[in-house]
Amino acid sequence: MYAQMLCGLIMREEVLRVGAVFASGLLKAVRFLQVNWKQFAHDIETGTLNPKVTDPSVRECMSKILKPNPELAAFITKECSEENWECIITRIWPNTKYLDVIVTGAMAQYIPTLEYYSGGLPMACTMYASSECYFGLNLKPMCKPSEVSYTIMPNMAYFEFLPHDDSSAQDSSRDSPPRLVDLADLEVGKEYELIVTTYAGLCRYRVGDILRVTGFHNAAPQFRFIRRKNVLLSIDFDKTDESELQQAIENASVLLKEFNTSVVEYTSYADTKQIPGHYVIYWELFVKDAANAPTDEVLSQCCFQMEESLNVVYRQCRVADSIGPLEIRVVKNGTFEELMDYAISRGASINQYKVPRCVSFTPIMELLDSRVVSKHFSPALPHWTPERRR
Ligand code: AMP
Repeated sequence: MYAQMLCGLIMREEVLRVGAVFASGLLKAVRFLQVNWKQFAHDIETGTLNPKVTDPSVRECMSKILKPNPELAAFITKECSEENWECIITRIWPNTKYLDVIVTGAMAQYIPTLEYYSGGLPMACTMYASSECYFGLNLKPMCKPSEVSYTIMPNMAYFEFLPHDDSSAQDSSRDSPPRLVDLADLEVGKEYELIVTTYAGLCRYRVGDILRVTGFHNAAPQFRFIRRKNVLLSIDFDKTDESELQQAIENASVLLKEFNTSVVEYTSYADTKQIPGHYVIYWELFVKDAANAPTDEVLSQCCFQMEESLNVVYRQCRVADSIGPLEIRVVKNGTFEELMDYAISRGASINQYKVPRCVSFTPIMELLDSRVVSKHFSPALPHWTPERRR
């Protein structure tokens, strides 16, 4: 990563696109620059490679392109030492035409941060894929992230679909055997869970993604990625999934706008140590102006706003006192970076890493809890009446 970023800096005028597989990876790269720019400037000024890079073949390659360039070093120092990193991508790489990065599904929450760093460059979500197999391509890569549909590539695996009905969003395998639908029989507007049989030998493997059919390209169906299937949080009868949690966070973070603050990362935890149990949401915030940081009261209102945004069963359980007030724990800057380092140290791939949207593993909880700077609780019950069904 160090050598790659250094090459990017040396050839800054030639860079036409900046990207990573997932948005979280691209933000990790920006953060890497933030942490290491002094070393990069030093290497560029002196034409030497940081001794921390030990791989001989990488050192040899770098020696061919790394020449002393004090002018470029001064430029990097000037841009990176500024407090304000708005548009840093286009400042350092002025010819960037677009960001090549997946911002659909759970990655959508990074869009505002990427817009901030890139000055609103288009974001091309080109593909929908997994370790198990490739699924689809976006045939209109320059469309808005909210309009992205992926066209399935029927030759990549044998695709089948399990109809997904939200009103009975339970594991249908518990009832009668699931009725699978073939590619050709999908209906526009309906949601399905993706099932693949791969050339490598997975048989009817449930990928865990919920997709909505948006149309067809010739005879190949096109999908909007809706969410991962699993329920994230549950205390009582309530079931909160990833997209609901994300929507609640988006609604609550509107309250942070006037404080020039945004939610950089989040995860959640169903705390059932006390009765009633309650939802805990860990937030890492980006506060542009420390003198105008959101107050305790505003953060409590964010808790309330989240509760208001959650589904009717959650609100009903809150009113019935079977769920306690939602809690936001604000963690120190860089906490989620540490979380990723921890996952990588346990074998996760840096390219595929996705922040877990719900945590329960003790070492991760300990890491998060040791970085908490403040705690806030919802001050009131969310609205719920027996008549109100939505
Ligand atoms: P992995 O097997 O770790 O590479 O992750 C594959 C999973 O990443 C998929 O099952 C999806 O949940 C998610 N994913 C991959 N591509 C996209 C995409 N274009 N939009 C949203 N989520 C995606």
